[in-house]
Amino acid sequence: MNIESLKSDLGGLKIIDSPNLVRLKSRDAFYFSPILKPELDHVIADLVVVPQSEAEVLRTVRACFAHDVPVTVRGGGTGNYGQAMPLSGGVVLDLSEMTEIIEIAPGRVVAQAGAIISDIDKAARAHSMQELRMHPSTAHTATIGGFVAGGSSGIGSIQWGGLRDPGNIIRLRVITMEAEPRVIDLHGDDLQKVAHAYGTNGIITEVEMPLSTAYDWVDMIVEFDDFVEATEYANDLGSQDGILTKLISVIAAPIPFQTFKRHQRFMTEGKHVVLLMAAPHGMMPLLAFTAHYPGKIAFRSDEVADLKGIPPVFELSWNHTTLRAMKVAPGMTYIQSLYPYPNQVASVAKTYEMFGDEVPHHLEFLRFDGNVTCFGLSMVRHTTDARLNEIMRQHDAAGVPVFNPHRYTLEEGGMKQTDELQLAFKKETDPKGLLNPGKMVAWDDPDFDYADDKVYLYPGIKKPAG
Ligand SMILES: Cc1cc2nc3c(=O)[nH]c(=O)nc-3n(C[C@H](O)[C@H](O)[C@H](O)COP(=O)(O)OP(=O)(O)OC[C@H]3O[C@@H](n4cnc5c(N)ncnc54)[C@H](O)[C@@H]3O)c2cc1C
Repeated sequence: MNIESLKSDLGGLKIIDSPNLVRLKSRDAFYFSPILKPELDHVIADLVVVPQSEAEVLRTVRACFAHDVPVTVRGGGTGNYGQAMPLSGGVVLDLSEMTEIIEIAPGRVVAQAGAIISDIDKAARAHSMQELRMHPSTAHTATIGGFVAGGSSGIGSIQWGGLRDPGNIIRLRVITMEAEPRVIDLHGDDLQKVAHAYGTNGIITEVEMPLSTAYDWVDMIVEFDDFVEATEYANDLGSQDGILTKLISVIAAPIPFQTFKRHQRFMTEGKHVVLLMAAPHGMMPLLAFTAHYPGKIAFRSDEVADLKGIPPVFELSWNHTTLRAMKVAPGMTYIQSLYPYPNQVASVAKTYEMFGDEVPHHLEFLRFDGNVTCFGLSMVRHTTDARLNEIMRQHDAAGVPVFNPHRYTLEEGGMKQTDELQLAFKKETDPKGLLNPGKMVAWDDPDFDYADDKVYLYPGIKKPAG
């Protein structure tokens, strides 16, 4: 790779090559993992290109292909497994200035991939009281392209399921990494080729996403003395088809009181909480439903006169729970798991009993294959990497599969097997393997064995300077 010749080919484009800024743009939220942190800390691109249009993306791709320079796409850089980190150096293609919201129509929005998710929601709300079906808790900083390429589900998934569910993405416009790059529109089953592929087999420049009705969602915190009772309430509420909610999270004591600083004055120390976002017209049935459970409503955003300084409750949920806990308890990390339907409540009770305060439990309820169940985003008081691996193994053994968030590859963080569709698409769109190298094991090492604890170490990782 010849970076100086590449630079001269890219004359006229916005390029960042000051080492501090390049380093900043080469990092994401990988520090969530005590395993990834030392492994990836030194990773740095050679330069950052910030295209302003699809034509500039095409120019960059042509030049990088000609010079054999790897390209790692970046949106907001909020991914938390090092997905957006350029393991082999090369170019970080920063799409954060391609932010146009192109069209809003009944039930759908078309936007450039670099549009910030909350900006899309704001525009759709102003246009016709609509909003995206789901968003990550990083909606204020993450891009829609990054969510599609690196995210999975979030606030809204209790109604709509995950991004992988048919209908939750309508269309993606993708640029290939070839001598003469192609621009392809993907629909239907073909969306699975690039959704959650970490930009390893195409650069998404435009997305078309479905919209639903926007409401002035009411934020609530319901407190419980008993964690399993809180889980039962959350599970039962999620199954109430007539009560419209956008978020149902359960977080075990002592985390909520210790870490939700701005809400602390409404809360009681030592309680487990259920966080809710509820449609205003559903409040009466929700209150009636809640009265049948031993929970106490500690906070309702529609009853607080001045909400200044109080974050939306979704910024206490999903990975924001871990983020807040990490600030208060250094050494805190997390795991990701699925509590399979229909035994989710019994399985939660089991893992809660198994690990106690070493693994403060955190659940996000959602529709998964049409059934209401929960993901575990439980926190872990980290001691050693061996113990962290052991905790994950014990979850798996208890019938609670773990999606390991301490790995940077698609397969190890996912189903621990090759995604043949994504691999085949990469062969078609990225013959030199220049897109986000090191993130798809099947491309680099088709025979890799995903046996317990075996970690894939990408041989092409750029060595630390010095
Ligand atoms: C505090 C916190 C809370 C979070 N909450 C959630 C949550 O609720 N749900 C959830 O799913 N995730 C969550 N995440 C992970 C992450 O924030 C989201 O997935 C987010 O949508 C990523 O968007 P981004 O623009 O920051 O993507 P980036 O981090 O920039 O990129 C993510 C991946 O997608 C690739 N990529 C980015 N843009 C493109 C593109 N245009 N074309 C091709 N590839 C591309 C990158 O190379 C990278 O592999 C959270 C992370 C943090 C730190």
